[in-house]
Amino acid sequence: MDKHSKIYIAGHRGLVGSAIKRRLEQLGYTNLVYRSSKELELRNQKAVEEFFCAEKPAYVFLVAAKVGGILANNTYPAEFIYDNLSIQTNVIHTSYLHSVKKLLFLGSSCIYPKLTPQPMKEEYLLSGKLEPTNEPYAIAKIAGIKMCQAYNRQYGTNFISVMPTNLYGPNDNFDLENSHVLPALIRKFHEAKTKIQPAVTVWGTGTPKREFLHVDDLADACVFLMEHYQDSEIINIGTGQDLTIKELAELVKAKVGYQGEIVYDNTKPDGTPKKLLDVSKLKSMGWQAQIPLKEGLVGTYEWYQKNVSRNL
Ligand code: GDP
Repeated sequence: MDKHSKIYIAGHRGLVGSAIKRRLEQLGYTNLVYRSSKELELRNQKAVEEFFCAEKPAYVFLVAAKVGGILANNTYPAEFIYDNLSIQTNVIHTSYLHSVKKLLFLGSSCIYPKLTPQPMKEEYLLSGKLEPTNEPYAIAKIAGIKMCQAYNRQYGTNFISVMPTNLYGPNDNFDLENSHVLPALIRKFHEAKTKIQPAVTVWGTGTPKREFLHVDDLADACVFLMEHYQDSEIINIGTGQDLTIKELAELVKAKVGYQGEIVYDNTKPDGTPKKLLDVSKLKSMGWQAQIPLKEGLVGTYEWYQKNVSRNL
């Protein structure tokens, strides 16, 4: 990618796309294109074709997706499989038709089997059964990986697939029902603090372990891989460290400055017991995460206070 190459960011308003846009701008890339979902319906193949005809991007970051936490995945399984399959199929196929030089497809760590050795290496893909709460989403992401690989093999394209761990940061979804755990906890503790409530409810048992990567680190890794990674094989992006949901809840509670109790609601699902990525492949290329969770949490809480809580 040179600084004037035309780069299309599909999903530029989301958590990941907005961070990739910031990173590319910081690095001096001047020719970025993007459309809101109102302007371009990525589930519509014809609309995607017309957009590529008009703009002819040379590079594509395919980070548009229907995403959500454990409850959202469980409640809207049809949307999770349909939206993701159609968005990615349209963008990948059209990128091939228009001779895009390189495409980065964003997967997810939930593509790995539920009960797989930890940390999870890239080669564990398709070695066992998936976690049922997000199986439709995971199947869509696996289809995207396989589609990139098939196009590389048959058509000689250069489409790479990267697997991020759980992400957080500015522009995240802070909805109480549909978000992921970290933004949900920021909001719950903040609201409990401002409304002086005696307790905050955390879903599940608090024992599952999760790894959290700041989205600015992810964006940096994505640009790095777009520049340096040429392989069809998937590559993990994470910090290599995890903690229990209970530890996370204590940490968010402290950073928000909430004084009350934490109660665990065992009627809500735990999901997969542990989800830690093996990041040795990425490390061996010379990349590693820079933003410690404690620091990233403080920045994300500040962003939440400025941008979300005052508009609620
Ligand atoms: P997952 O990583 O795909 O399982 O997705 P989540 O980020 O939604 O959930 C991670 C873990 O946090 C699960 O064990 C949830 O039960 C737990 N959790 C605890 N409190 C919450 C909450 O308020 N919202 C969400 N989404 N998860 C929570």
